[in-house]
Amino acid sequence: MSSPTNPEVKELNPVDFIQLQQYIEYNNLKVKDVLREFYADGSLARHRHGECINEEGFRLFLKTYLEVEDFPVDLCQRLFLSFQNSEPGQEDSTSEIIHTHRAYKQLTAFSEVFLKDVSCYFSLLEDGQPRDKLEFAFRLYDRDGNGVLDSSEVDRIIAQMMHAAEYLDWDVSELKPVLKDMMTAIDADSSGTVSLDEWVQGGMNNVPLLVLLGLKMIQKDGQHLWRMKNFNKPVYCNVCHSMLLGLRKQGLCCTSCKYTVHGRCANKNPAPCARTYVKSKKEIGVSTHDWVSGNCDSRKCDKCQKKIKSLQGLTGKHCVWCHTMRHDQCVDQESTQCTCGLLRDHILPPWAIYPVIKERPNNVKNGCSGSGDDSELNTTPDGQVLQICPVPNTHPLLVFVNPKSGGKQGERVLRKFQFLLNPRQVYNLSNGGPGPGLSFFRNLKEYRILVCGGDGTVGWILDAIDKGNLLVRPPVAVLPLGTGNDLARCLRWGGGYDGEDLNRILKDIEGSSQVLMDRWSVQVITDENQEEGDPVPYEIINNYFSIGVDASIAHRFHTMREKHPQKFNSRMKNKLWYFEFATSETISASCKKLSENLTIECCGTPLDLSGVSLEGVAILNIPSMHGGSNLWGETKKVDTKGLTAQEEPEVIINPEILKVASQDLSDRRLEVVGLEGAMEMGQIYTGLKSAVRLAKTSQITIRTKKALPMQIDGEPWMQPPCTIHITHKNQACMLMGPPAKPSGFFK
Ligand SMILES: [Zn+2]
Ligand SMILES: [Zn+2]
Ligand SMILES: [Zn+2]
Ligand SMILES: [Zn+2]
Repeated sequence: MSSPTNPEVKELNPVDFIQLQQYIEYNNLKVKDVLREFYADGSLARHRHGECINEEGFRLFLKTYLEVEDFPVDLCQRLFLSFQNSEPGQEDSTSEIIHTHRAYKQLTAFSEVFLKDVSCYFSLLEDGQPRDKLEFAFRLYDRDGNGVLDSSEVDRIIAQMMHAAEYLDWDVSELKPVLKDMMTAIDADSSGTVSLDEWVQGGMNNVPLLVLLGLKMIQKDGQHLWRMKNFNKPVYCNVCHSMLLGLRKQGLCCTSCKYTVHGRCANKNPAPCARTYVKSKKEIGVSTHDWVSGNCDSRKCDKCQKKIKSLQGLTGKHCVWCHTMRHDQCVDQESTQCTCGLLRDHILPPWAIYPVIKERPNNVKNGCSGSGDDSELNTTPDGQVLQICPVPNTHPLLVFVNPKSGGKQGERVLRKFQFLLNPRQVYNLSNGGPGPGLSFFRNLKEYRILVCGGDGTVGWILDAIDKGNLLVRPPVAVLPLGTGNDLARCLRWGGGYDGEDLNRILKDIEGSSQVLMDRWSVQVITDENQEEGDPVPYEIINNYFSIGVDASIAHRFHTMREKHPQKFNSRMKNKLWYFEFATSETISASCKKLSENLTIECCGTPLDLSGVSLEGVAILNIPSMHGGSNLWGETKKVDTKGLTAQEEPEVIINPEILKVASQDLSDRRLEVVGLEGAMEMGQIYTGLKSAVRLAKTSQITIRTKKALPMQIDGEPWMQPPCTIHITHKNQACMLMGPPAKPSGFFK
């Protein structure tokens, strides 16, 4: 992607910068994890030479860190070169020193870069503040390293930013003057050059530039959550009131309140974003609409019931909370009471949140960026702690979104919820995990949690609830993103979110019912004198645990996915791949005669495995595995009147009784099934068959005699001979979706 006018120039440009940010947004590793591989007996240690790595080492660094196989070769080269060019400390005035320094650099230039520079740069991109990132951009353009940008360097920045904007599909005709003006304005002392200070100051105040570079603006009070948006109908600017022009009708639009402006108007003191809390306790419970002007064309006025007609300008007003629309003149007529509309049960309105003075003295922290402090998200800019005073008869929804689940879908869902609810009840899990949200809601008695992510994300939140020492354990609903959503599926939240209307999903949550779900502790003790295997992925089982054929399929699938991520980019494809693995004969070889290599005890009773030719054993907590297969199979409804789960025996191994035993999320029992082979797995996945029922039990001990593939909740690993104990841990409170209505052809 080097500049077309001069293919010789191999320098990093803003497009590269944006691409990198996008890669980093979707990776799961931290720089420090990758760095570890370069030291001691790490897998990449041999690529480190002293403090340096060569281009091959650098390529491996990127591959490992970004978790992509096919990282663009030219981008990799430009990055590598940029690290060679970074000149540390230009203070030396002695030309001789510079000369020697350059000579030294030329010697090393061909081959190596400092690992420290590389890791420093990527950690910056990982969680750096806009200020740091702007500083980085400055260093990039200050080619001669003299500490200021001269006019040619400034021109180059503008040209490159336009290039970046085009890459992001922005309409650049409007952007160019904005950037030009900015660069003129930035040069505060009119010296003709731009210093680092001027650049950072100017950049921090330039909304389009920050949005363009994908930098998250510091969340000041009243700060809009900007993003670039194209409209397909006429839209008017909330600042200058004229139309958004151009083929794509492009503007910056606030995710939360839909305030919309021209790129150039974003810097002209736009009105603040809708309030998210009230300033004092006196205003608690005073429910008033918060109106934002414009863009109500052709909608019905809630007051006079007439159509709101476009008047070639900002027309009508909409309320940020209840989303009703009115004519401008109808806004002031009576009823300022806001009911929060259809989503009333879920919304935490601003009049339920107020600031209290922080108890601990905290002057030291002022002025520090505060990243990493969990409480930061729930404080006002002047350091007061926000508190919730609940609205009676509501169940505010605490939303956690894992933006790394399900590709771009996660981000879209995050934005939608920021619009539908109060942004203060919507938490991005890559921004400090579940801690800030749970601590903000901890004094509430009635609330619900919605986890948007995969099964792994749900497990993460359930753990946090366990460890959070909460007054009440809120019930948890799931919006499944990405693949592997077995838990969501059996709780009737579907196998994967496909862009359905979130209003409807919120209605379903309102109509959902609470169920308890067992959770199990798993302890894996590797036999003495055995080499340690891969780390065991989890200590808790929410879904299922398996050994042998099934696990080996998952293991191969997992390795394959790491090798060829492009083949695994949609749910459907994942399913097909699983099927392909399941029917491949060869993999079962390693698990042949499984029963000779393991023993299973259920509550002290050994299972007799001699009669079945096992290649796999699965232990199930929920009736879904690998995207919907039910290994236990359906059970004909029998009259079990008078026998509650707890009165059932601790362990059942009698096949006749097992035949009529059904699965239940909350019976404090696990189901044990045997798998005969890979062919059979294929039939199970396609629903043609179910596995052999071996037991229903409240406790299990397994001993293995050779290394075998295993998995917990879809995370596979290779485990040397060991003893495994599985015991009941606790029950989580989950929300079960309403029963599915008939759909499709017969609707
Ligand atoms: Zn404007
Ligand atoms: Zn806003
Ligand atoms: Zn309202
Ligand atoms: Zn009206």
